[in-house]
Amino acid sequence: MGTDVAAERIERLHELARAAAADRNHDRARYYVRLARRVAERNRLTLPREFRRFSCDRCDAYLRPGQNARVRLQDGHVVISCDCGAHARYPYDD
Ligand SMILES: [Zn+2]
Repeated sequence: MGTDVAAERIERLHELARAAAADRNHDRARYYVRLARRVAERNRLTLPREFRRFSCDRCDAYLRPGQNARVRLQDGHVVISCDCGAHARYPYDD
């Protein structure tokens, strides 16, 4: 798989994960997140930033604040907490 094809595939999987999560089908969303991670790994790509931020590193859930995740601001950082208990912190301005 070429890098461009892989990147397009990852984008598509991101859309599918987002749509599945919006339908509250979290198992399906997780399946797409895992598939995307695998494609990225095999092609030595990193997931696009938005995809990284909205997927849990621990359980691979696609995060929907107010549904399976909470977002709060703390010391100039955005903290996203997944229902599984994992937290991720990002600089607010980034
Ligand atoms: Zn999680």
